[in-house]
Amino acid sequence: MATPTIPHITILGSLNTDLVAYVPHHPLPGETLTATSFLTSPGGKGSNQAVACAKLSRPRSLTSPSAHVSMVGAVGSDPNGTLLLTNLTSHGVDPSLVSTLPGTKTGIAMIVVEAETGQNRIIISGEANHQVDESFLTKGNWLEKTDMLIMQLEIPMGTVLKAVEEAKKRGVDVLLNPAPAKKLPGSVYEGLKHLVVNETEAAILGDVDEEELDTLEGLERVGEKFGGMGVENFIATLGGRGVYYLTKDGKKGLVEAERGVKVVDTTGAGDTFVGRYALDAAAARKEGKEFDIEGAVKKANKAAAVTVQREGAAASIPWRDEVE
Ligand code: ADP
Repeated sequence: MATPTIPHITILGSLNTDLVAYVPHHPLPGETLTATSFLTSPGGKGSNQAVACAKLSRPRSLTSPSAHVSMVGAVGSDPNGTLLLTNLTSHGVDPSLVSTLPGTKTGIAMIVVEAETGQNRIIISGEANHQVDESFLTKGNWLEKTDMLIMQLEIPMGTVLKAVEEAKKRGVDVLLNPAPAKKLPGSVYEGLKHLVVNETEAAILGDVDEEELDTLEGLERVGEKFGGMGVENFIATLGGRGVYYLTKDGKKGLVEAERGVKVVDTTGAGDTFVGRYALDAAAARKEGKEFDIEGAVKKANKAAAVTVQREGAAASIPWRDEVE
């Protein structure tokens, strides 16, 4: 159970089974490729970010967590669903608000990773995730117990929009990671505490060309655009370039990516970043302290650099004692 001294972070989002094939190059139209290796692993942006929060909140021994982390979502009544629930529990995430839906399949993500670059291409079949409707917002009164709510866009948009509204009404901090990128109504940004986007998401949601993000000035312009719409903390993850941040009260900077990193698989890098960043943001809020955004971004950047050097999603996310 949550204690009064540690923050309660809730992730409302997707759970998927990742089917990952590692290939010498991405297949061309009509080409059949032989994978160099294949693995099945727990995934989904929601589940990955929950696991990232939990793993980065404590050492591998599962003792002394710095946050209570719970997941809200849905899996199907199949073996994949059972494995996803076990994955949450084994990493210290509270899975009690994840519903197992009868007669429904668990979400699937087909991921193809190019060996040379570590770049991935992903196809998602949402399945049970499509059924995460507004009724999930009232289960067990979880919003009343939450200090920070983290969401992505792999569940129905109507549920996300309603959750943002309800959370703001209750003074719950919201971290939105709008992935996969979809245009959002302006009301979402009004009073939004944290917006974490990668380059593609920044370009689509910010309505600019991706080249605009190549310079510091361009990043600042995009950040200010979101700030003007009401976002308090804007963070853009820039892959091998690092991370840019801009706050409502004028703090800004580019934190360079860790050097000497051999990229194996970038799956889960953004999720790791979100998890580590959220832990600091939620702790500052719980303790009523000023949020050191630069410190949070630096720690999250370091944690994400570990993830890109390992295969898979949940398994590649480091425990706290592996980075600090
Ligand atoms: P996403 O996977 O969501 O598209 P990014 O590709 O922006 O996210 O990666 C997220 C974070 O992972 C980066 O901001 C950085 O901290 C880290 N990262 C990604 N690629 C590298 C790299 N080549 N070297 C070091 N760190 C990296």
